[in-house]
Amino acid sequence: MPPAPPSREWIDITRPLAAGIACWPGDVPFRFRLGWQMAAGAAVNVGNVTTSVHTGTHVDSPFHYDPAGATTDRLPVDVFVGPAWVADVTGLDEWKTALAGVDLSATPRVLFRTGGWPDDTQFPTAIPVMEADLPDWLAGRGVKLIGVDLPSVDPLDSKTLDRHHALGRGGIHILEGLRLDGVAVGRYELVALPLPLVGADGSPVRAVLMPMERG
Ligand SMILES: [Zn+2]
Repeated sequence: MPPAPPSREWIDITRPLAAGIACWPGDVPFRFRLGWQMAAGAAVNVGNVTTSVHTGTHVDSPFHYDPAGATTDRLPVDVFVGPAWVADVTGLDEWKTALAGVDLSATPRVLFRTGGWPDDTQFPTAIPVMEADLPDWLAGRGVKLIGVDLPSVDPLDSKTLDRHHALGRGGIHILEGLRLDGVAVGRYELVALPLPLVGADGSPVRAVLMPMERG
């Protein structure tokens, strides 16, 4: 029987940057305002944005956790576009068990759905965390990007950022703050490009998935 035709609709897995979106306690909240307003007689509407780059759906550049690491403008764009696997690790202690039988050479990007951050307006008090050896396990299988639906890949109170460092050592780039509820396990085309923010430690991304044909 021939495979079902693929859906050609993009799935948006980005948290909208709205007033009131949660940010790290003590960090700079997201704000958009119109500096010039047509409603106030200006010829055009022109807005400006203030935000931590770690609010909402974003990339962590290696410079975020390593003073010698690559800044956002130095990130390779090809990492952020291409085949990806969405895995459901809800309730799992060992996230790698959700990847049993998955050919990661075909999907060297892995997005982990934990369900651990359901409300964009509330910063979580605790989050699921991957097992300590997962970064090396993924690096050994050629994975070059992971994403989580959480504000961090480390425990929220971590000062050593062990997972960030282990992922960086393995050459694996990090997306955080994805919105993956309702996204089925499987293979997708991912687009999640950071802005070329010169000298930056991260960037908001617009992350979208296109379901791929199975088989
Ligand atoms: Zn971050």
